[in-house]
Amino acid sequence: MPKIRELSEVLADQIAAGEVVERPASVVKELVENAIDAASTQIDIVIEEAGLKKIQVIDNGEGIAADDVELAFKRHSTSKITSREDLFKIKTLGFRGEALPSIASVADVYLETSTASAISGTFLHVKGGEQLEKKTSARPRGTEITVANLFYNTPARLKYLKSLQTELAAISDIVNRLALSHNDISISLSNNGHVLLQTVGNSDLQQTISAIYGVKNARQMVPFNGKDLDFKITGYISLPKLTRATKNYISLLLNGRYIKNFQLSNAIIKGYGSKLMVGRYPVAVVNITLDPLLVDVNVHPTKQQVRISKEDQLAQLLTKCIYDRIAQENLIPDALKNL
Ligand code: ADP
Ligand code: MG
Repeated sequence: MPKIRELSEVLADQIAAGEVVERPASVVKELVENAIDAASTQIDIVIEEAGLKKIQVIDNGEGIAADDVELAFKRHSTSKITSREDLFKIKTLGFRGEALPSIASVADVYLETSTASAISGTFLHVKGGEQLEKKTSARPRGTEITVANLFYNTPARLKYLKSLQTELAAISDIVNRLALSHNDISISLSNNGHVLLQTVGNSDLQQTISAIYGVKNARQMVPFNGKDLDFKITGYISLPKLTRATKNYISLLLNGRYIKNFQLSNAIIKGYGSKLMVGRYPVAVVNITLDPLLVDVNVHPTKQQVRISKEDQLAQLLTKCIYDRIAQENLIPDALKNL
């Protein structure tokens, strides 16, 4: 008898889930990214017990056609890329076709969805990778996904989770970054009925920053921009009097995708020169636009780490435009600032 066997689909999905679905916040991230990719203008995120009881994401986007609903839960099935070349010019947040099957392999997932042209919508219930029910639904255009009993069949993962407070903070953090990177979408987040975030979605970045960091802090931030042949940078940065004790308040958004990048975060801090006290960091929301050919997002399943060509050049540009913007602020006499 051969020793090597092909894994069942459910088992393969559970293994993939180990990378994609680390904690409730990862589920929120994947579901909201799908809603963004579906061209939604409104996304509501309803959480119970920091996501352990329920994670629900409701959008008014394109929806999924009845014939496609089951495919959406099959691994490596995606509507976002078709060819090898597409991989080098990714404009959507998703493309790996892994999130829904991974999530559905470790939870109860209820999907209700409808496209604009369909006469009726579809309801689907998948649990632990098994489809339990499919029927038509009266839902209007858009998608509502509910994830319950997360990690019910992976006790080790459940045990590894931190306190509800920590898990909720991680959810808030990722939703804030998604809201900052998509200020044209009205996004709301609530946990156990308490509203934690509500953005207007009118494309005004400063207003989105106000919703997240408070009006007072937003007022201490100034717009800045810069560009060279390869990169265009826009955003808001705090003046040196508004600082934080961690680098966590720096949001790097690359072609609309929130990314983590040590060198670029440091380049931002470097732009402040000696204006920041040791151990203090700025608040910054930095949008970087570049040709998708210059960035490889296919580095890690969560797509938060990316590889950027000409990263050194980008880092230098960032430092320079922040340095110039802060210097410019110092040229304005205090008496004129509030005029
Ligand atoms: P990916 O986002 O990488 O394509 P997912 O597993 O997250 O993979 O989703 C699979 C497919 O299901 C998507 O390609 C998309 O066609 C569809 N889909 C998922 N969520 C939504 C949504 N909220 N609105 C419309 N379509 C969706
Ligand atoms: Mg996705």
